[in-house]
Amino acid sequence: MPELFIDGTWRDAGDGGSREIRCPADGSVVAAVSEGTAEDALAAVRAARRAFDHGPWRDTSALERAQILHRVADLLEAEKSEVARRESLDTGKRLVESEIDVDDIVGVFRHYAGLANADSGRVVDPGMPNVSSRIVHEPVGVCALITPWNYPLLQTSWKVAPALAAGNTFVLKPSELTPSTSIWLMNALTEAGVPAGVANLVLGSGARVGAPLTEAPEVDLVSFTGGLETGRKIMAAASATVKKVALELGGKNPNIVFADADLDVALDYALTAVFLDSGQVCSGGARLIVEESIHDDFVDELVRRAEKIRVGGPFDSGAETGPLISAEHREKVESYVAAGLAEGATLRVGGRRPDDPELDKGFFYLPTILDDCTADMSVVQEESFGPVLTVETFGGSSPDEFEDRAVEIANHTIYGLAGAVWTENAGRAERVARRLRHGTIWINDYHPYVPQAEWGGYKQSGIGRELGLAGLNEYRETKHIWHNTKPAAQYWFGEPAGEGA
Ligand code: NAP
Repeated sequence: MPELFIDGTWRDAGDGGSREIRCPADGSVVAAVSEGTAEDALAAVRAARRAFDHGPWRDTSALERAQILHRVADLLEAEKSEVARRESLDTGKRLVESEIDVDDIVGVFRHYAGLANADSGRVVDPGMPNVSSRIVHEPVGVCALITPWNYPLLQTSWKVAPALAAGNTFVLKPSELTPSTSIWLMNALTEAGVPAGVANLVLGSGARVGAPLTEAPEVDLVSFTGGLETGRKIMAAASATVKKVALELGGKNPNIVFADADLDVALDYALTAVFLDSGQVCSGGARLIVEESIHDDFVDELVRRAEKIRVGGPFDSGAETGPLISAEHREKVESYVAAGLAEGATLRVGGRRPDDPELDKGFFYLPTILDDCTADMSVVQEESFGPVLTVETFGGSSPDEFEDRAVEIANHTIYGLAGAVWTENAGRAERVARRLRHGTIWINDYHPYVPQAEWGGYKQSGIGRELGLAGLNEYRETKHIWHNTKPAAQYWFGEPAGEGA
């Protein structure tokens, strides 16, 4: 089946090769796709450029764009089972989690449908007669949208929905490992009424089809979600033509537990914070930072519960978490655990693949807890992006010193995506939340987000914010229009012809 969607039609790829998509839970082939070449990527860019410069899309009314986004949400709701099934087959994640993802994606499309029609600009008082002055928003142009494999369609929706809501055209490049729901989406966008050339899809590796998108002069904006190293490359590539760049990068997120927290709840959430989706969550709470007085009991109980977590495939209703995305990724996680142990961490549970022969063909790795960690260890500082919890402790001789120390440890990272603080002391919760240099802070909670709130990172976790009104602004240019309705010469330099001659 052709897998390049360019100018409203499915086309065969050039000689980019083909790829079997394998379910990470058992290695079974779930799809076979052909991949594009750099020339295919540039053909998609040219189609998006033509559609933006000469097509009807940028001048469609905001109301019409909103209606189209609502129709996409309707299609997602109608085909929820199929979309979730495809997502689970590509990622190996539990079907129930993919279904929750689809609900979130519906919410994202409806959210941006609402924003499309809101905030159409404002009038500015110029303070003089015969002049009108106003601020208007306009689409940026052609957007290159590059997404990762962990939440394939959700991450895509965070880009596609605002790009369309603002009137842009785009080329989407999903992760080579998880293309299936992007293919579904192109058909859904067409059915919902998106004109030819507005939405384009190229499949293939980042090096082959992603990089050309970030370099092409016809692209105005690159919106990327993925790892820090790739983000740095993209920022450099985009600089040659000064593209707008939005980067949603990694995180190494602190989860701080004070002794005065509701410890049963904090413990339960500490598990979900890190082991949800086998730790392959950018905002996962992989760094537990626990007050020293409760450390022993808290960690013993975490270990007891982590040991019992059942791993399994997407359709195993007894499984609590799934596999890692690929053999290479599992090796990376293993190397971080080995490095942590070499640097002095203590392995409390996990640290290996499961024994169950039924799981042999999948890329499973057991929930792992490394105790006695310190902020300078590579396993603490860098994203293993797997089911690996590191435990650090803090103490002090006064309540103020406790807070200072917890904040200092939690901020000791180049990242700044998300984090949490657990305490029953409301003042402490607010103080710590304000001092943490991370883009989302949960107080006595972990993981929830709402489309109305902005999402993005401090420090090297990214540039720009997604969702919320600011998320739409990433995809718009803002223009001040000053209209002098009665221009008259002022003769600051010289006099009118005839006078004084
Ligand atoms: P990745 O390796 O950086 O890849 C992300 C995307 O970029 C893929 O589509 C990849 O293509 C493409 N790519 C790679 N090199 C490229 C280049 N030179 N030019 C253009 N595109 C290129 O990240 P990942 O392993 O897929 O995803 C995991 C990372 O995403 C983690 O670091 C995680 O924290 C981050 N993430 C962040 C957020 C957030 O909201 N901040 C959300 C989710 C994930 P191929 O892989 O197909 O070759």
